[in-house]
Amino acid sequence: MIPRTLFSSDHELFRDSVRKFLEQEAVPFHEQWEERGYVDRELWSKAGAAGMLCSHLPEEYGGMGADFLYSAIVIEEISRRGLSGIGFSLHSDIVAPYILHYGSEALKRKYLPKLASGEMISAIAMTEPGAGSDLQGVKTTAVQDGDEYVINGSKTFITNGYLADLVIVVAKTDPKAGAKGISLFLVEAGTPGFDKGKRLKKVGMKAQDTSELFFQNVRVPRENLLGQAGQGFVYLMQELPQERLTVAVAGLAAAEAALHWTLDYTRERQAFGRAIADFQTTRHKLAELATQVQVGRVFVDRCLELHLQGKLDVATAAMLKYWSTDLQCQVIDECVQLHGGYGYMWEYPIARAWADARVQRIYAGTNEIMKEIISRSL
Ligand SMILES: Cc1cc2nc3c(=O)[nH]c(=O)nc-3n(C[C@H](O)[C@H](O)[C@H](O)COP(=O)(O)OP(=O)(O)OC[C@H]3O[C@@H](n4cnc5c(N)ncnc54)[C@H](O)[C@@H]3O)c2cc1C
Repeated sequence: MIPRTLFSSDHELFRDSVRKFLEQEAVPFHEQWEERGYVDRELWSKAGAAGMLCSHLPEEYGGMGADFLYSAIVIEEISRRGLSGIGFSLHSDIVAPYILHYGSEALKRKYLPKLASGEMISAIAMTEPGAGSDLQGVKTTAVQDGDEYVINGSKTFITNGYLADLVIVVAKTDPKAGAKGISLFLVEAGTPGFDKGKRLKKVGMKAQDTSELFFQNVRVPRENLLGQAGQGFVYLMQELPQERLTVAVAGLAAAEAALHWTLDYTRERQAFGRAIADFQTTRHKLAELATQVQVGRVFVDRCLELHLQGKLDVATAAMLKYWSTDLQCQVIDECVQLHGGYGYMWEYPIARAWADARVQRIYAGTNEIMKEIISRSL
């Protein structure tokens, strides 16, 4: 295999500590969390204490001033273990950057240290029952009334939605202005009129508390507007490449894990008097999968490197997101096949990985939308 060259010894030390943390604090409980539909809140505060949340934030806001590879390590180690209920990356690598990049100094000081410590869990609410890919079609409104905005609308499919203490809400401040009428607001759980709906029953990611959220005459101070009114769509477009990179990083790590489980399984499982790995068709299939995963690894790592240099452009991030998640689904599906009937049993990690993978082609912008973005750049 081509060696990975991105990580320093400090990164590898951090990776060791993340591994130990997950093996101790998450692996033994994840099945229980799947049955219940959400992870323990204490996991978040423990992860915060271990430096696993928002490590990229400057120290003055509670972070470690770390580079994006620390985030990538957390994503990879969670994904490799199939711990799909844990929404750390959305919190650290998607929500926190909006506050850091567009929030006022007061908002940064108020919220970022609590996100880094895990005292507050965060979510971002873009999607609505009637608008997902077509973000400009959101119906949620935020109307200014004196020193406050009044928010009305509903959101669905919101990751970390049930546990969230703080939500970035995408709303229209000027419904007639299309993309230029979209703004982003911070809304705290417990604000009157903000209700959480049911946790949604999903095909996979069963320990992830994906939820509906409802806003009825929710009043937030004007200071809770992130950046400027009407600039929300621009902010979303600026931040989405990192979101897409996180999805690809998780996808490739999941595909690598699936391949390793399948190598082990096919060496052990016997049929017709020999290991199924001894059949030439199996060996060739494993060779194909290993090659695909290797190609994916090089692509993901090169994009990580570009991102560290601030050079990962929107179209390349879209290519990476669509291609890596398609690859993830193909590889894992073949791995299920090589497990036979056991590959369809929930107690086998490969079955869970198969169910968890499917949504990767849907969220963070569907893979069809990724191809739209790419084609516009050609
Ligand atoms: C588990 C899960 C977690 C999620 N987490 C979050 C979250 O935290 N926050 C959040 O805001 N959202 C979240 N989402 C929502 C997710 O981002 C949307 O589901 C996704 O963007 C697609 O939107 P949609 O479901 O409305 O599908 P639609 O937009 O209705 O799309 C349906 C189909 O039409 C295709 N399509 C649509 N437009 C075009 C086009 N122009 N060209 C070609 N094909 C097109 C799509 O690709 C898709 O195949 C989550 C979803 C899931 C399932």
